[in-house]
Amino acid sequence: MENVIIIGTGCAGYTAAIYTGRANLTPLMLSGSQPGGQLTTTTEVENFPGFPEGIEGPELMMKMQTQAEKFGARIEYSQVEKVTKTDAGHFDVLLEGGNTLQAKTVIVATGASPKHLGLPNEKSLIGHGLTSCATCDGAFYRNVPVAVIGGGDSACEEASFLTRFASTVYLVHRREELRASKIMADRALANPKIKPIWNSTISAYLIDEKGEVRAATIKNLVTGEESELELKCVFVAIGHVPNAKFLGDLVDKDENGYIIQTQGTLTKTQGLFAAGDVADHVYRQAITAAGQGCAAALEAERYLAH
Ligand code: NAP
Repeated sequence: MENVIIIGTGCAGYTAAIYTGRANLTPLMLSGSQPGGQLTTTTEVENFPGFPEGIEGPELMMKMQTQAEKFGARIEYSQVEKVTKTDAGHFDVLLEGGNTLQAKTVIVATGASPKHLGLPNEKSLIGHGLTSCATCDGAFYRNVPVAVIGGGDSACEEASFLTRFASTVYLVHRREELRASKIMADRALANPKIKPIWNSTISAYLIDEKGEVRAATIKNLVTGEESELELKCVFVAIGHVPNAKFLGDLVDKDENGYIIQTQGTLTKTQGLFAAGDVADHVYRQAITAAGQGCAAALEAERYLAH
C-alpha cells in the first residue's frame, strides 16, 4: 500500500512529490498521457520566480523531476482509468491495462487538456495540419502561412513563437479585443508577421489530396461572411478542459468540469486532494499550480499523521 499516489507530473504534481518525498512518504507518481504537463508544450517561461533570464518550459519540468526523484519520488508512466475509495478507507487506483494500485492518500494533479472547436473532421486532422502545440510542431511549417485561433495568452505566445518559422501567422479571434495580458498582446500585435483576423472563427478545415490541411474557411461572426484562407497548419489555442473524469463522484465539479475544493486543496472525499489546473480555473499559472501542489502535500501529510 502506497502512502501517497500523485496523479499527474506537471508543476502541481512535482511540487507535491518534492514535499511528500522530503517527508519520507516515498510518493508514487503516475505520469498520465503528457509527462511533464502543459509546460512541456510551451517555450520560454518568463514569470516563474527564480529564473530572471527565463527558462524553457521543458527544462523547468526536467529540473522539477530531478528534484522530486532526489527526495525519493518514483515515476510510473501509466494512465489512470478510475479511482475509488474502499470501505476500509484507502483508495484503489485502476490503471489502463487492468492493474490496481492501493494508496492511503491520493493527490490529483492532472491539469487540463487543450480544447478544440468541435468541427466534424477535427480529431482526425490532429498531426495533419492541426495541433495545439506550437513548440512541438511549429518547426514543421517553415516559410508557409499558418493560423492560431484564440485571443488569450496562449494564442499570443504561440503566434509570436511561430513567427520564427512561418511566412505569415494569422491570429483568428472571435472578438475584436484580445483577452491576453497587455504585455503578451502588445508583443504579438507589434510583430509584422502576425496578422490579426478579428471577429472571426474557423468554420471548416479544407484538406488536400494527402489528407493535410491546405486552407480554412474563415467566418466573420459579425457579417456572417465566409472566405477561404490558404494555410498549412492551424494551432488551436482556445483554452482547456480539466482532466477529472476518472474520479467519478469522489469529487464535486463546477459547470466547466473543474474540481471543487472544499477548503484549500481538500475535496469532499477525505484523503483525496486536488491541486493545480484540474481545480483552478482562475489563476492557472505554473507558480500557482506549484503552490497548490505544496499545500496538497502538507494536507496529505497531516491526514496520514492522524
Ligand atoms: P484563455 O485565457 O481561456 O483564452 C482562451 C481564448 O480562446 C479566449 O480568447 C477565448 O475567446 C477563445 N475561445 C474560447 N473558446 C473558443 C471557441 N469555441 N471558439 C473560438 N475562440 C474561443 O486560455 P489560455 O490562453 O490558454 O490561457 C489560460 C491561462 O494560462 C491564462 O490564465 C493565461 O494567463 C495563462 N497563460 C500564461 C502564459 C504566460 O504567462 N507565459 C502563457 C499561456 C497561458 P474570448 O476572449 O472571447 O473568451
